[in-house]
Amino acid sequence: MKVVLQDLTKKFPNRNKKDRTEVTAVNNFSFEIPDGKLIGLLGPSGCGKSTTLNLICGLQKPTSGKIFFGEDDVTDLPPENRGVGLVFQNYALYPHLTVKQNITFPLENLRGKEKMTKKEMADKALEIARLVQIDTLMDRKPSELSGGQQQRVAIARALVKMPRVLLLDEPLSNLDARLRLQTREEIKRIQRETKITTVFVTHDQDEAMSISDMIVVMKDGILQQIGKPQDVYDDPVNLFVAKFLGTPPISVFHGSVKNGQLYIGDTAVLDVPGVGDREVFAGIRPEGFVLDENGSLSCVLNGVEVMGRDISIISTHKQSLNTTIRSIISAENKVNTASENVRFSLKPSKVYIFDKATEERIRFPL
Ligand code: ADP
Ligand code: MG
Repeated sequence: MKVVLQDLTKKFPNRNKKDRTEVTAVNNFSFEIPDGKLIGLLGPSGCGKSTTLNLICGLQKPTSGKIFFGEDDVTDLPPENRGVGLVFQNYALYPHLTVKQNITFPLENLRGKEKMTKKEMADKALEIARLVQIDTLMDRKPSELSGGQQQRVAIARALVKMPRVLLLDEPLSNLDARLRLQTREEIKRIQRETKITTVFVTHDQDEAMSISDMIVVMKDGILQQIGKPQDVYDDPVNLFVAKFLGTPPISVFHGSVKNGQLYIGDTAVLDVPGVGDREVFAGIRPEGFVLDENGSLSCVLNGVEVMGRDISIISTHKQSLNTTIRSIISAENKVNTASENVRFSLKPSKVYIFDKATEERIRFPL
């Protein structure tokens, strides 16, 4: 099921009653979620992710704009008629019901020609429980399950009616690091098997990048960029997107462009043909630094961490906005750890420049 958001806006009255200004949680959002894909909705806390999800499922009404599922305009439909499955951060299971009863709960209320017999419900619950791999736990109560298992039950419950759209709001945030990794792989597998169009909300870029077919990056209610994770990482439209994606993060420097050259401090570090003279932010991805004793960028060496295949060099620079610069180079390189400084040349495709005032990307031919 394709989902289309058209000029979607949601304003809230300010929570502080004395303040008459409104909060625009979602600001003129338009995008299309292709049928059968998993979309990661990504942005910092408070940027409007949950509000967007609540608008899609119908828990909240947009101030303006429309929502389509396929060709159906669902903007005015109540949530129960939209055919959506919902999973939240806190699993919200019924504590007094067993796993099986929790999963069949949405089926109990089906009426008319959709009404199911006890046997049909039990079969359906078992089928979905197998899909999320909790079929051996059917008689347990939620309190007898681990966090990861509880979240699987919540996912099974959301899937049991075979929703047209599955919506997950930070579903892994309550899990410990190991379970989080495992469960996100599971969600990816389940989504591939069911082919249900899915929106996965997270503030964790690593999580969004690893499981999404497409990511939608938002900030302050405004859509910043949509694309395949790798494409957005490789080709960010502005400083915010460049900084939000990637671990270790991009290193950002105060810089300037003079006569077609990018300067960091007094040093020309890269040719940027065709770019007019101006003040910029220069962002360099960790993999964009090349250890080079004749390199133009000289940083103060703080330390070296060997990580098997790679080496992480930690350094500082007067013009750096980051407190430390992290560069990742192949472990075949030898770093002279006794040296005070470390010199780099730069891979042009891993260097991005942004206008200092607008923070928009300035492109230059490679
Ligand atoms: P996220 O899920 O990305 O953390 P939310 O969608 O929950 O962000 O919130 C977006 C903005 O809208 C925030 O500034 C939040 O305070 C505000 N907001 C959310 N829900 C309400 C509400 N019911 N009333 C007033 N303001 C709200
Ligand atoms: Mg939220």
